[in-house]
Amino acid sequence: NPELRLHLRLLPYSEDFWLLIARDITNTMRVEQMRRDFVANVSHELRTPLTVVHGYLEMLDEGDDPQWAPILEEMRRQSLRMTRLVEDLLTLSRLDAGEGLQDEVVAMAPLLAGLVREAEALSQGRHHIVLEDTAQVDLRGANKELHSAFSNLVSNAVRYTPDGGMITLRFAHETDGGVSLGVHDTGHGIAAIHLPRLTERFYRVSNSRSRESGGTGLGLAIVKHVLGLHGARLCITSELNKGSQFVCRFDADRVLARKPLTYARTS
Ligand code: ADP
Repeated sequence: NPELRLHLRLLPYSEDFWLLIARDITNTMRVEQMRRDFVANVSHELRTPLTVVHGYLEMLDEGDDPQWAPILEEMRRQSLRMTRLVEDLLTLSRLDAGEGLQDEVVAMAPLLAGLVREAEALSQGRHHIVLEDTAQVDLRGANKELHSAFSNLVSNAVRYTPDGGMITLRFAHETDGGVSLGVHDTGHGIAAIHLPRLTERFYRVSNSRSRESGGTGLGLAIVKHVLGLHGARLCITSELNKGSQFVCRFDADRVLARKPLTYARTS
């Protein structure tokens, strides 16, 4: 049976014998695949109507009646949140499907500069944003996915840090020959009890604050998945009311010498 999937475990039984336990997981995997396909299909089907609704909401103006303004604003906010949710679900489905990621040169100088611009746009001058790039190397991996992972960390840092706080992006060498990209904030912080579950899908520390922030509860699940596909790890440390650090650690085999930027000359 080409579909047969077995889970094998080899255990020491006595001095001379080993025990081989084979469990048939064909059905479990089939059900899991059906669940994934279902989520992917539903998300895909929701995408178009949501885009239409959001588009029309953007076009509607409040007219003469001021009581419509807050209602329309809330409808736009919620439709944007739903759109984000659908996009995040589709991203996770794509990652789950395990379609091979691109193996590209990820030029870190423009990527980091882009992340700083994103942070500034989200923060709108409410935070102090700092970039420390001491590694001066590039990475080998998938540009789009890594960008979306880092971007999630940056947007969290901005959303969970009160005005006046500081957000630092630190790209640095590690002692083992690898590199790390850390997003450090001086925000609300997270109690230790939540840390092990933070990258689970839809896990949120404080529902009201997270919902207000416009998040989907899927951001860190995406980050962990993308890093896993690059053989990298996400290390989270945090202290309540002091701030958090989300550090992505890449092994040495992902590190490439950085090429100097070349500029096209215009005459
Ligand atoms: P969300 O879309 O809700 O932000 P995430 O998966 O990105 O979902 O994050 C999960 C939860 O982890 C968030 O709801 C929030 O409670 C917490 N969190 C994430 N990043 C930070 C941070 N930088 N500071 C404090 N809490 C954070």
